[in-house]
Amino acid sequence: MSRYTGPVCRLCRAEGTKLFLKGDRCYTEKCAIARRNTRPGQHGARKGKTSEYGIRLREKQKLRRFYGLNESQFAKMYEMATKMPGQTGHDFLQLLERRLDNVVYRLGFAVSRRQARELVRHGHFLVNGRKLDVPSALLRAGDVVTVREKSRDVEVLKQNAEVASQRSVPGWLEVNPETMSGRVVSLPTRDQIEVPVNEQLVVEFYAR
Ligand code: SF4
Repeated sequence: MSRYTGPVCRLCRAEGTKLFLKGDRCYTEKCAIARRNTRPGQHGARKGKTSEYGIRLREKQKLRRFYGLNESQFAKMYEMATKMPGQTGHDFLQLLERRLDNVVYRLGFAVSRRQARELVRHGHFLVNGRKLDVPSALLRAGDVVTVREKSRDVEVLKQNAEVASQRSVPGWLEVNPETMSGRVVSLPTRDQIEVPVNEQLVVEFYAR
């Protein structure tokens, strides 16, 4: 299934929660959820009882949209998580967080995961000193992500680094805005992963 390319605020309104898909705007009063938290479309205000299946489906969609993956990428990662020794829900979230595009976003080098994916694909980042342009690459503890020397003058990266210097990063990452680099200190624990989702419901969706 192809990736959604329509207005992203509609996705937040469909899920009834902020998915932080639009960069800085998400933190302002202009956020569509802050202004009008109703489902999009003519029947957006309609209320009805959601089935057990529907609740789990919505939770899965919310998580998938939060990370901006298509169905097959998302299902593939879930499959990987089921083969890991820990709790599937936690392992799944950890895999999603370890993606290079997510780490670039969490470090503040991009304002959204969508932008991070594009910047990675354009080859602006090194991982452990080597160019890596695969957004889905999974990082490990100790990996160092750096903006390439010749990309440091790219306007969007300069602007993002400036904003990033005023923001905090999650505890499992550390960033140095001056050298435009960041490090995965350790793999994230559940309480270090900020997602508006109950991952257990996602596990139940796939286990049905
Ligand atoms: Fe739009 Fe961001 Fe608000 Fe979502 S959180 S509705 S993407 S501005």
